[in-house]
Amino acid sequence: MSDLTDFITDRLDVDEEAARDALARTTTRRHRLSGQTVHVPDRPADWGPDAVWPPERVLADVGAKRRIVALHPHTTMRREIGEEHLRSMYGPNWERRLIHLDDLYCRTCHVADGKITNDAGIPCLTLRLLALPYADHPAYRDEWRP
Ligand SMILES: [Zn+2]
Repeated sequence: MSDLTDFITDRLDVDEEAARDALARTTTRRHRLSGQTVHVPDRPADWGPDAVWPPERVLADVGAKRRIVALHPHTTMRREIGEEHLRSMYGPNWERRLIHLDDLYCRTCHVADGKITNDAGIPCLTLRLLALPYADHPAYRDEWRP
């Protein structure tokens, strides 16, 4: 897992916890409207009825972003291909010949035709875009900015 993946996961954990807390503090009022009973959520003041992002939407957003993060695993050539296979492909000095052997790369975005095509170690654009809304967080690194 990359540092950026950890950063995004930590921010999503905070968002999810806040939304779950808001849902736990939400009560329901019943109203009679045109002869029918209508249930109206009575949210905490910080998640009021005019909130653009109700907690249900925050949880859906967090769930979707977690799935996107899972689709962009960052790995290394050593982990992905395996030492035994690399040795058979590159011979006895295989570790010296593969200079990016332990650099992280996104398995989804940065591998084409079996060859690493990005600058090794830079998180993929997808993860950097997912992190952008949290750029004001003190742990955000400017080199992640897309
Ligand atoms: Zn990616």
